[in-house]
Amino acid sequence: MKIYQSYKNPLIKRISENVSGIWKNHPLSNFVDIDAINTTTLRIELLCNSMDNESVNIENYPDMILKLKKVSSNEIIYHELTHIIDEHNFFFTAGRSVMELHKLINKLQNPNDKKEYIQRTLRVLWDAYINGRLSKHGIFVDSMNNCLELLTGRNHEGKKDLNIKTEKYLNKVWKSSRLSIDILISIAKKIPYHRYDLL
Ligand SMILES: [Zn+2]
Repeated sequence: MKIYQSYKNPLIKRISENVSGIWKNHPLSNFVDIDAINTTTLRIELLCNSMDNESVNIENYPDMILKLKKVSSNEIIYHELTHIIDEHNFFFTAGRSVMELHKLINKLQNPNDKKEYIQRTLRVLWDAYINGRLSKHGIFVDSMNNCLELLTGRNHEGKKDLNIKTEKYLNKVWKSSRLSIDILISIAKKIPYHRYDLL
């Protein structure tokens, strides 16, 4: 993976170098389709920054954008790079391109439809799948309990059965080392989405 580093801004340059170092040591990078990743250019973009005049023409660098905050920890960088690894993993995508993969995920979003909750659940599950695998390599991004809370909300009263069901599925995802987006979607559809504060 090429990491686009021609920024003049010293902060972005420093972060890009950090990302390069983390990419070289990433414990899951051997799960990526090498040909696909070799042709991928990663562009580092800072969120909430005041350096918009530093950003490059997106049309020239459409491949990958890694959005980071100025203070993104190494753990967050490991996490975000794992999304890219999964996006280039043939088993995970079932042969879909990155664009096709995100089309599939976006199709699950429809504000007039319960499917939107499936998409939100899917995003938490994908994060849990990533964080579970990284934790096996001593990289702690977030706990399974925090993921569970994202799915169940804080108000656990009267939802014990639903929460047990959710935890069972989440635990399966957290411990898995080989899942596909289709499996994650099928699990997301089984999880009772009951976060009252997002409804
Ligand atoms: Zn994530």
